[in-house]
Amino acid sequence: MTQTPDRIAALRASFDGGRTRPAKWRRQQLYQLMTMIEENEAAINEALNADLGKSCFEARMTEVGTVLSEIVHTLSKLRSWMRPTRVSTPLSNQPGHSRIVHEPLGVVLIMAPWNYPFNLTLTPLIGAIAAGNCAVLKPSEVSANTSALLARLISAYLESDAFAVFEGGPEISTELLEQRFDHIFFTGSEGIGRIVMSAAARHLTPVTLELGGKSPCIITADSDLELAARRVAWGKFLNAGQTCIAPDYVMIDETVADAFVGQMRKAITSFFGADPKQSPDYSRLINERHFDRVQGLISGGDVAIGGETDRAAKYIAPTVLTGVAPEAEVMREEIFGPVLPVMTYKSLDDAIGFITARPKPLALYVFARSRDIQNAVIARTSSGGACINDVVMHLAVPDLPFGGVGASGMGAYHGRASFDTFSHARAVLTKSEHFDVPLRYPPFTKTKLRW
Ligand code: NAD
Repeated sequence: MTQTPDRIAALRASFDGGRTRPAKWRRQQLYQLMTMIEENEAAINEALNADLGKSCFEARMTEVGTVLSEIVHTLSKLRSWMRPTRVSTPLSNQPGHSRIVHEPLGVVLIMAPWNYPFNLTLTPLIGAIAAGNCAVLKPSEVSANTSALLARLISAYLESDAFAVFEGGPEISTELLEQRFDHIFFTGSEGIGRIVMSAAARHLTPVTLELGGKSPCIITADSDLELAARRVAWGKFLNAGQTCIAPDYVMIDETVADAFVGQMRKAITSFFGADPKQSPDYSRLINERHFDRVQGLISGGDVAIGGETDRAAKYIAPTVLTGVAPEAEVMREEIFGPVLPVMTYKSLDDAIGFITARPKPLALYVFARSRDIQNAVIARTSSGGACINDVVMHLAVPDLPFGGVGASGMGAYHGRASFDTFSHARAVLTKSEHFDVPLRYPPFTKTKLRW
């Protein structure tokens, strides 16, 4: 696509012209985004259903509704976020005052994955607009219906000389990554994250990497097992397990493991019926390649629940595995599908040791009534985010930054964190002309040295 540099140059010209800076422009674009979603919700649902078999309810809960709440939250806070932050000024710089000015970065690139293709393209965009940037969007080619719809809607509703959508696969991403951007916001796998970061290094472009990993879920004997099973089953089988912060595996006290599996069976049946394949509320795997990969992981343990698959329908039943060896493939790679290994531990120390011996995950969950256990798990582990007595829901708190640590990513977004990610915190000192302490100027006489 040879017009890529020209299209980006056009966005840069718009940015340099200064039109994205006023709060009024940012607000207008955010309202336009809201109108775009409200006027096209049926088409958005259709695209998400065609890509992932997503039900309308799930689409509202995890894609459309989430994006709308982020816009509303951003609009309500924009004025205060944009306000310069005053900081104190030491005596040596008096008379004067100091402030941090939040300025936009310029033209930013947002690269999105296919699992929440609507949400994960637009939520970063909200932050980019709020901070006053122009943006290039690169939705995933794997969720082709949502990608095509986003390209059509963004050009119809947002200013075309400030925003551009590039559709396509690795060849388009590669071409985009050759250009100079002022920030790259990437959501996707660790492997492609490395490609993005090394491409960004050529232009010294800062990056936010929202990656994945194996998010553990500790369940202690001291927890409400029925509630834990219901919440874990919901978070794991949402979007057929294709959620970056889905509980990847359970690490449970061995004395309650059987009871937990029993509760999981109950929860799965109550959500999706005796045959989840017939449930309109249960999604499908995105494509045959991912189906084959996830199906291959099932042989890593004993199937305690589910296990049925249908390649033509890209269906894998909600599956729970027991008797899984730590070295099995299912415990080595991010599962990203509806398969839940249940590992057991003898002591909490063992569970914590197992987790900390592995790369830092994007999320960590612990179910326990005891405050001491909750605190011990949080204090002795590290993860991008964490939830106590629930899974996934920390993502829905607008004032909590969302992002990874270590192998699960760098940087964060949502709410104020998005605004900060897409802004430069510029240090500005204003000095008075009225008074000039001569101490710092040569010649450095003996009298000055004594001071
Ligand atoms: P992916 O890394 O394959 O793709 C992400 C983006 O990179 C897509 O836009 C894709 O077109 C582009 N891309 C693919 N190959 C490329 C290449 N060679 N060079 C440059 N760009 C390329 O990820 P995915 O399969 O779409 O998503 C799944 C992964 O994303 C999982 O690891 C999951 O945990 C992670 N994820 C993380 C979050 C988060 O918020 N941290 C959210 C969703 C998904």
